[in-house]
Amino acid sequence: MTYFTARNKFSASLMAKGSCWYCNKHLDDVRRFCGRECAEAFEEDEMAMERRMQATRQTITDATYASA
Ligand SMILES: [Zn+2]
Repeated sequence: MTYFTARNKFSASLMAKGSCWYCNKHLDDVRRFCGRECAEAFEEDEMAMERRMQATRQTITDATYASA
């Protein structure tokens, strides 16, 4: 359940911009993705990026404490 809650929260933070967030295909103003495949691919990319950023932050924090 936690996984789906995180996904929904992430999706809700995106604004429709008139084109697909993943492949940039032109869309109407209310949709964020042209299809479920793009929505899922985009979210997986974003979540992977988030994990990488968290890993980087953790490394920096560890280095800071190590040198202090
Ligand atoms: Zn798309």
